[in-house]
Amino acid sequence: MQKLQKEETIALRNKHIGKSCQLFFRKDPLKIVRAKGQYMYDEKDDAFLDCINNVAHVGHCHPKVVQAACEQMSVLNTNNRFLHDNIVLCAKKIASTMPDKLKICFFVNSGSEANDLALRLAQIHTGNRDIIALEHAYHGHLTSLIDISHYKFNLPGGVGQKDHVHVASLPDVYRGKYRDTEYKKDEMGTLYANEVKEICDKIKSDTGKGICAFIAESLISCGGQVIPPQNYFKEVYSHVKAAGGICIADEVQVGFGRVGKYWWAFQKYDVEPDIVTMGKPMGNGHPVACVVTTQEIADSFMKTGVEYFNTYGGNPVSCAVANAVINVIEQENLREHALVVGEYLLDSCHILAKKHKCIGDVRGMGLFVGIDIVQDRETRVPDKELAQYAHHRLREEHILISVDGPHNNIIKIKPPMVFTKENVDEVISTLDRAFKEYRHNNEMYSVNSSKQPKATEVSVKDHRPRKALSETQIKSI
Ligand code: PMP
Repeated sequence: MQKLQKEETIALRNKHIGKSCQLFFRKDPLKIVRAKGQYMYDEKDDAFLDCINNVAHVGHCHPKVVQAACEQMSVLNTNNRFLHDNIVLCAKKIASTMPDKLKICFFVNSGSEANDLALRLAQIHTGNRDIIALEHAYHGHLTSLIDISHYKFNLPGGVGQKDHVHVASLPDVYRGKYRDTEYKKDEMGTLYANEVKEICDKIKSDTGKGICAFIAESLISCGGQVIPPQNYFKEVYSHVKAAGGICIADEVQVGFGRVGKYWWAFQKYDVEPDIVTMGKPMGNGHPVACVVTTQEIADSFMKTGVEYFNTYGGNPVSCAVANAVINVIEQENLREHALVVGEYLLDSCHILAKKHKCIGDVRGMGLFVGIDIVQDRETRVPDKELAQYAHHRLREEHILISVDGPHNNIIKIKPPMVFTKENVDEVISTLDRAFKEYRHNNEMYSVNSSKQPKATEVSVKDHRPRKALSETQIKSI
């Protein structure tokens, strides 16, 4: 299925693709040529277990999604200035999963476009400009979103913080400003929420105006798989509304049933955002995204006289794909599956934590799990090196995980929703081995030398390339 040998692909990429475009494992990148379910296959047809692809939500290349795209593509694809059933049926379905007031949809092509439009709607509706976002948050690659994404603007060489952007502390009860060692959960929720109120008050005293919006992921991914305290969003939303602002829930990563119990992660907190943005899983790899809002906010936009047009947003093919994804989630009970497998994953991580002191914290909901790797449980000092070691070591074992968070020490697991308990066992036993190897090596170094070991110096044992599974094997999992 390759058109080029891997070396030629690398050479052409080096020549023609911007070096700043992100590439996993840059020194030895993977060439993936096909994928199915929770497995990806390289040019040698070796299988990799995908624990990180929350885009291939219902499984890579799900036949029903592929079929819906092909069928619609062979009949019609055009822009949404014509009537079409796919877009209205998709909007109706999405609205049916939301609180009643959230029923107006704007279809776009990516999570970034969705968040950019959400900010525009918020500015028009409130007449205000100041945005509150969270520390270490990421909301997209457009200029407007880099401006509000602390994860990006705060980097060396980043654009820095703009005047209208305000950053509230990450409500991380494990290693944030207020920790579970000192406070009870609801106290922390209130303390973190009070920071948002203080920012609202300061904006009022500085500008004489209210705020435009508060935007946050409902479970915070780039910030390190953080689960805010249960009362946090309720209190934040009430402060923001009192300050004239609206609340935006970014569900680009965590929506579409990943948390299992709910369609949308914000529903965990019993709050009603004014705008919800969604993307990634919505198209299972096809670019389709959406902004869902209230009649009042949509009316404010309409009253400006704007005629919103987006060439590809909501086209018949994209909506056929999104409809197929939603149908598969329902028909294959993937939310229930995420709940069961997610619980098993969390339990397995907790058991692993009993064996390895390097696991400081395990947190998650459904198939959204983070493992916080530490040098020492008491001090909670992050262990970036060990997290990186595990990342590379698992890749050698053909398991793809990711590592993120402000200290690059959080192992993130957010696989396609068809992930199984057997897959969990494989990840956990491989992590177990990786942690043992690392410790063994550290002990050898501390006995034999004062030199600190480097992850790359640890010998790689038991390399085990896996061959592609047959169709029958995949079905039997
Ligand atoms: N919001 C969140 C929370 C995201 O994680 C991302 C992408 N990682 C985006 C928005 C932007 O989505 P896209 O890359 O589809 O533009």
